[in-house]
Amino acid sequence: MAEHEKTLANTIGLYIHVPFCLKKCCYCDFVSYPYSEAAAGTYLDALLKEIDMYSLGLPDQEKQLASIFIGGGTPTCLSSGSLTAILDRLRRGFSLVPGCEITIEANPGTVDRQVLDVLRTSGVNRLSLGIQAFQDQLLSALGRVHTAAEAVEAIRAAREAGFDNLNLDFIFGIPGQTREEWLETISLAADLRPEHIAVYGLQLEERTPLERLVARGEIQPCSEELELSFYLAAIEFLSSQGYVHYEISNFARPGRESVHNLGYWLNRRYLGLGPAAHSYLPGGRYANDATLAGYAGRVARGELPVCSREGETVAKEMSETIFLGLRLIGGFDLAAFYQRFGRRAEEVYRKEITRLLEAGLVEFAGGRLRLTAAGLPLANEVFIEFV
Ligand code: SF4
Repeated sequence: MAEHEKTLANTIGLYIHVPFCLKKCCYCDFVSYPYSEAAAGTYLDALLKEIDMYSLGLPDQEKQLASIFIGGGTPTCLSSGSLTAILDRLRRGFSLVPGCEITIEANPGTVDRQVLDVLRTSGVNRLSLGIQAFQDQLLSALGRVHTAAEAVEAIRAAREAGFDNLNLDFIFGIPGQTREEWLETISLAADLRPEHIAVYGLQLEERTPLERLVARGEIQPCSEELELSFYLAAIEFLSSQGYVHYEISNFARPGRESVHNLGYWLNRRYLGLGPAAHSYLPGGRYANDATLAGYAGRVARGELPVCSREGETVAKEMSETIFLGLRLIGGFDLAAFYQRFGRRAEEVYRKEITRLLEAGLVEFAGGRLRLTAAGLPLANEVFIEFV
């Protein structure tokens, strides 16, 4: 991870939001629209123009990319030709550092060997597959478009296409999911030997079909105790399989941590392109228009599609650096904090840190402040102290 931290110095990460999915999953509140060729054409035209605007407008030092992450939505709804065109345009307008991590998110059922070959050849070097579960009845309860067999097939095709850096995403706490099913899922995941695994507790987002079913009492949500036991089981099992638990939800083989996400947790700068994408650039945080029509309309008028800006203050930057850094299992580096702000976190947040130390939720270790094992399941309560 230290190597990645060096790569991230004086670079930014670039995120591209692709707002299309074949079908909306019933728990999802991300910005995504049903895929259509016409909408994808509108999107691609606008996105390429937005890339040009930033490549002309940003100073050179903010165009050094350590990572590119094409997420969504389901980026692989777009044709491989469109995805290649996006990467070509980025290469033309930005500088990619040697070894720049280029990730694309994909769902099983939207990729085959041919698409994966094109992506690999066009420089994508990391694939993130949304697998979520290995039981078809749970996938169908989530409204996913793929089966467990298709997920295994997508992983096999990715390996054949030459992807040697794979992330697999999983969800626990699905209504009706048993402990045996979760253990089977993580065990099958480890058997497939991906370089990276992410596990997320299911969130019941407002106004999603799943949340409404739960609110009407038609579905029983997973209890907090069971969800916690799933999480702890994942930590224990994946650690026993050689995965380093390096962030609250993320596990990697040594050296295979996500460079792009590390940039977020280290509170580094990033540029987000596409509808609903967020940026963190000198001057503050910016959010793009979340609707495809609004986004494309602004770009067509020659404007950046930013619809909200939040100015930056040192106090805000310090607080974000702490609570994002505490997401890392190793914690945040106290010396790096001092170097960045010229103030010691232990002094700025003396009261908060003392309270958390006394409660046994954080600890100092090796020049870092980190969550303890007891603090890990209570991470959100710890973060609130610094907001
Ligand atoms: S595939 Fe992902 S982004 Fe699309 S609806 Fe499902 S969870 Fe949301």
